[in-house]
Amino acid sequence: MQTYDLYIDGARRPAEGGRTFDTENPYTGKVWAKIAHGTEADVDAAVEAADRALAGEWGTMTATARGKLMMRLADLCEKHAADLAATEVRDNGKLLAEMGGQTRYIGEWYRYFGGLADKIQGAVIPTDKKGIFNFTRREPLGVVAMITPWNSPLLLLAWKLAPALAAGNTAVVKPSEFTSASTLEFAELFKEAGFPDGVLNVVTGFGQDVGAALVAHRKVAKIAFTGSDASGARIYQRAAQDLKHVTLELGGKSPNIVFEDADLEAAVMGAISGIFAATGQTCIAGSRLLLQRSIKERFMERLIEVAKAAKMGDPMDEGTNVGPITTPPQYKKVLEYIDIAKGEGATCVLGGKPTSVEGSTGTMFVEPTIFTGVRNEMRIAQEEVFGPVLAVIDFEDEDEAVQIANDVDFGLAAGVWTSSIGRALRMSERLKVGTVWVNTYRAVSYTSPFGGYKRSGLGRESGIESVNEFLQTKSVWIATETSAANPFVMK
Ligand code: NAD
Repeated sequence: MQTYDLYIDGARRPAEGGRTFDTENPYTGKVWAKIAHGTEADVDAAVEAADRALAGEWGTMTATARGKLMMRLADLCEKHAADLAATEVRDNGKLLAEMGGQTRYIGEWYRYFGGLADKIQGAVIPTDKKGIFNFTRREPLGVVAMITPWNSPLLLLAWKLAPALAAGNTAVVKPSEFTSASTLEFAELFKEAGFPDGVLNVVTGFGQDVGAALVAHRKVAKIAFTGSDASGARIYQRAAQDLKHVTLELGGKSPNIVFEDADLEAAVMGAISGIFAATGQTCIAGSRLLLQRSIKERFMERLIEVAKAAKMGDPMDEGTNVGPITTPPQYKKVLEYIDIAKGEGATCVLGGKPTSVEGSTGTMFVEPTIFTGVRNEMRIAQEEVFGPVLAVIDFEDEDEAVQIANDVDFGLAAGVWTSSIGRALRMSERLKVGTVWVNTYRAVSYTSPFGGYKRSGLGRESGIESVNEFLQTKSVWIATETSAANPFVMK
């Protein structure tokens, strides 16, 4: 069995004390690798290495040279995309078809932000003071802690790491304890691309030990986190003690809203992929389907027909549409929410049970599940399930759709299905979410800012503006005349 060591200061090393933990394949239910169980001492070594790198070659490198290293990394990501995808699927059970697409795409983040590195500029500031030249410098924050979840480990890391590197920061990454292997494999590419040691470090372990120690480390300047709102709130609180910067990408309860004037077949497919892709385990899952009453019956008939045909199976097989749940706690949570929905009086019109799949020795499959008769105040409509469970709610008109859509604590994304451009624009304005998709769902790109309103997070990832989340501005004042030596007494 393979053992994955930590990656600190450009080298592999076992955790201090030599402990490891198991990582399982959710499809087979079998342990397939051992992962170094990092300690506080390992976190300290990684942060110190990242801090030294800031003062060394990396810190003095031109932004153009930094960008070139990132371009090389982008090429290597593409070259190794298939292997990285296979590792992710082995660890999190998502479909190879999806993870392969993701790992092939990840290079674009490093390429885009690599190109941006030498376009980060300060400004010459006109001032009201005579004999003074004032300009700004855009400087990195320092060592950034990056804490990632299990559903898309390398993609969500790229969203943080690419802008952070472009801005000249260094990083210590803690991947999810359920999916550590791909990040450790990715770290090898860093070395191959020619980055100086210490620019990227990976410490594997659990949230409450390694994650918490990283957040609390006094030399960490910022925490870039993706995960649940509960963990995000804890991290935000701890970071506040030291006034550290944070960006938080958290959960969602996104509405997919279908109006009677929509292309209904396209909307059915959007609703299906919105909730059943990745077995519902995405922050952007369209977990509330809002249907205009006039089309409800027709729509539901077709939706159930398509959902019923979804093939559950081995995530490595091309013909599989829905894979297993990734983790035992998540599996338990999904089944609990199915019971909660039933207890609240929602009607289960499809699925609603755990199931087994021929050929799988794992035990974490849940049938694609649809509830109708859901009222928006029910827990099944308010709380993130993170599984293949769809809550269908009906509405009469645009005002009611907006009211229901916005009446949750989360605000990550929303889908709107309509053929009216006026309605598309009105809805885009009125929905309190970070992303609105009109007649599409789940589109993301390195070019476009992504992030949450309300309890779905703070800050933005991707798009040019995200580089600002990893920069701070210094204002430099230079007297060009001796009379300006003390501006307070200047006439
Ligand atoms: P999680 O919050 O349990 O864990 C995420 C990461 O945080 C893990 O690496 C974990 O070890 C670490 N962690 C947990 N507690 C910590 C603490 N106190 N201090 C430091 N680190 C800690 O989330 P998860 O179950 O891995 O992922 C699922 C969640 O992630 C869902 O809520 C989902 O919506 C969210 N998510 C959000 C986005 C987004 O971009 N908005 C994307 C994917 C997933």
